[in-house]
Amino acid sequence: MALTGLEIYKHLPKTNCKDCGFPTCLAFAMKMATKQVSLDKCPHVTAQGKAALESASRPPIQLVVIGTGSAEIKIGNETQLYRHEEKFHRPTALAVRISDTLDDGALASRAEAVGKLAFERVGVRIGVNLVAVDNASRDAARFEKAARLAAEKSGLACVLMSADAERLRRAAAALSGQRPLLYISDSAQAEAAARVAKDESCPLAIRGEGLEALAELTGKINALDVEQIVLDPGARSLKATLEALTKIRRLSLKNFRPLGYPIIAFTTATDPTMQAVEASTLVAKYAGIVVTDACEKWQLLPVLTTRQDIYTDPQKPVAVESKLYSVGEPGTDAPVLVTTNFSLSYYSVEGEVEASRIPAYILSVDTEGTSVLTAWASDKFNADSITKALKKSEVEQKVAHRKLVIPGFVAVLSAGVEDESGWSVLIGPKEASGISSYLKKQWSPN
Ligand code: SF4
Repeated sequence: MALTGLEIYKHLPKTNCKDCGFPTCLAFAMKMATKQVSLDKCPHVTAQGKAALESASRPPIQLVVIGTGSAEIKIGNETQLYRHEEKFHRPTALAVRISDTLDDGALASRAEAVGKLAFERVGVRIGVNLVAVDNASRDAARFEKAARLAAEKSGLACVLMSADAERLRRAAAALSGQRPLLYISDSAQAEAAARVAKDESCPLAIRGEGLEALAELTGKINALDVEQIVLDPGARSLKATLEALTKIRRLSLKNFRPLGYPIIAFTTATDPTMQAVEASTLVAKYAGIVVTDACEKWQLLPVLTTRQDIYTDPQKPVAVESKLYSVGEPGTDAPVLVTTNFSLSYYSVEGEVEASRIPAYILSVDTEGTSVLTAWASDKFNADSITKALKKSEVEQKVAHRKLVIPGFVAVLSAGVEDESGWSVLIGPKEASGISSYLKKQWSPN
C-alpha cells in the first residue's frame, strides 16, 4: 500500500529548510504521498531515511519483465484492489498455448497465426502478447526446437512450460538473450528451475498447490537470488482460481511479500466459447498472464476488449481530439457528420463511414469524452457547443453545401443548431450502425 504523508514525514529531516520548494517537511511529505513530487527533491534526507522510504514505497506486487525489445512485456507493479481507486497499470498479458507435439509445419503456422492476432479498437492496437510453448512431448530436443520456431515465427516473447528443469534449461538456452518466462509445473523442481532462471537471466513462474505452498516456495526461490517470479496458485477450476487470485491480490496489497508477485492463470475449458469466457474473467480478476488454447479471432476479440476496458483509467474518459476529421478524401459535396469526442462514439462513426466508402468529414465536439446521450443529458452536447466546434473547424471553407448530419438520438437539437449556426440540420440514424446505409441512400448535398 502507498505510504501516507505522516509515514513519509517520519523519515524526513524535519528542518523545514524549504530547499525542496515546499514551506515545511510535512507539506513535502503530503505532496509525496500523492505522488506529485519525488524524494530526490529533498537533498537532505539521510541514507537511512532514503532506504526506509524506498523499501516501504516499493510496489506491493513485483514488476516482472518478459521478453526484450519490441516483444517486451511488463506485468505486476499493481497497487490497488479496485480500479475506481486508481487505475490498474499493467494490462494482463495474453498467451496462446502451442504444444511441442505439433510437427514443425503445424507449429510454425500456428505460431505465425498467433503473432498476427491483433485488432484495432478505438484507435488502439490490441493483440496477443506471448506464445506459450508447452513441453507436452517431454522431449528436450523437441522442446528446444519448438521454442526456437515459436519465437521466430510469432515474433512474440515466449513462455516455456515444462515439468522438468533440465528441459527448461535447454529451451531457455535456445532463446538466450530473449528473456522468455520459464514455467515449471513440478514444484519439486522449482529450485532447480530457479538456478536455470538465474543462469539465463529469465523470469520464473512457479506452481504451488495452495497459497501456503506458494509462499514457502517464493522464499526458497528468493534465497537463490531470483526476484523475477510469477505465481501459479495451482487451482484449475474457474471458481477456485478466482478465489486464489483474489486472496493473493489482497494479501500482496497488505505487503505480504511472499505472495507479492504477478499471477499466471490458465483457461481449462474445452468448449471454445467457454475458453473466451474464462479468459475474460481471469483478465478482469487480477491475472497478470492468462494462458489459453483459444486462438480464433472471434474468441480473442472479446478477451482483448475486456482487457482494454479494465485497464483504462475510469477517472479519465477515453477521448479523441476534438476537431474535424477527414475520412477518405472528401470533396466539396462530402457529408459532414457531427458526434462527440468519446473515443467509442467517434470510432463507431468513423468505422461506419469507412464501410460506406463515401468520403466524409466527421466533426468531433468536445464533450469531455462523454457519449452522445450522456453529453446531451449533461448539456455538453448542445446547439452552442456544436456551433462553436463547427466554426472552429472552418469546414465551411471545405464544403460547398451547408448541411450538418446530427445523431438521431439528439434530433431535439436540430432547431437550435440551425438557429445558431445557420446550417441546415439533417437527422442521421440513432445508432452508428445505420450510418453506412444512411449515407448511401439518404445523403444528398442538394
Ligand atoms: Fe524538509 Fe527536505 Fe524540504 Fe528541507 S528539503 S523542507 S528537509 S523535505
